[in-house]
Amino acid sequence: MRIAVLIKQVPAVDTVKIDEKTGTMVRAGVEAELNPLDLHAVEAAVRIKEQIPADDIEIFAISMGPAQAKKIVSHAIALGCDGGFLLSDRRFGGADTLATSRALAKALEKLGPFDLIFTGERATDGETGQVGPAVSELLGLPVLSYVSEIEKIGDGKIKVRRAIEGGHETLEAPLPCCVIPVKELNIPRLCTLGGKLRAKGTEIPVIGADDLGIETDLLGLSGSPTQVVRVTYPKMTREGKKINATGNPEAATQEILRLLEEKNCLEAAL
Ligand SMILES: Cc1cc2nc3c(=O)[nH]c(=O)nc-3n(C[C@H](O)[C@H](O)[C@H](O)COP(=O)(O)OP(=O)(O)OC[C@H]3O[C@@H](n4cnc5c(N)ncnc54)[C@H](O)[C@@H]3O)c2cc1C
Repeated sequence: MRIAVLIKQVPAVDTVKIDEKTGTMVRAGVEAELNPLDLHAVEAAVRIKEQIPADDIEIFAISMGPAQAKKIVSHAIALGCDGGFLLSDRRFGGADTLATSRALAKALEKLGPFDLIFTGERATDGETGQVGPAVSELLGLPVLSYVSEIEKIGDGKIKVRRAIEGGHETLEAPLPCCVIPVKELNIPRLCTLGGKLRAKGTEIPVIGADDLGIETDLLGLSGSPTQVVRVTYPKMTREGKKINATGNPEAATQEILRLLEEKNCLEAAL
């Protein structure tokens, strides 16, 4: 069995800065990390390998990003993946979710076949959650999303549970299939020294746009129907008014009510 895990490099910060001119994210000088929700996808794949020892399962981490994203592929190898690939090429730059999914789907076709493709629920920067389902659609595969438990893999099928309003749903799908876990599926392990040493010795091939055999104008900014046209940051203004209630709380209350009314907050509150 061959398993692929799609992992994304994201800024290791809460607030992403977007360049107001280009509309793309400022990555320079920003520390990066493996997208936290992808750690659950890596963990799921590694646990399948541990739980089905009979089968010579191979796990490959695949990421599309700038050259330094090799670091996160190496991290995934240290966590238990057998190998990894980095899609990196200036022509991938500025890709929206469709252009990203096209490149990843092509890479999966080229590097495949894969029986299982894991992705994270969403990336902490773009947060669209679109890439997993889009890659499945482009590959014509079933997708199992919001997976909170993997019950059984065997006989060419996978059986999972997912949390739904007021309960759980059990789903089964034929392999190959795409699986998108939620964080409740597992607790990701930490890297071991052995894992880090193994990762150090593992070469990570870099795949460019020409290697994918797809028209390059379907990739990157030119292949992205979603373009960031303007980035504006709301001006955070802190204006306040101190109302002294000592001595005459009644008058202070009236003053507060008058101000709320003035700002049309009262109606909304009642
Ligand atoms: C603030 C911000 C807002 C954005 N808004 C939009 C938007 O509205 N529409 C749009 O089309 N694009 C948008 N983008 C661009 C979008 O981030 C990129 O296209 C990105 O590569 C994929 O989308 P995502 O970050 O939402 O990932 P998600 O779809 O949330 O990622 C889901 C999973 O897919 C996999 N994955 C995602 N990206 C990669 C990758 N590069 N390599 C390997 N695996 C990956 C990971 O497993 C990840 O957990 C935005 C970017 C930013 C920074």
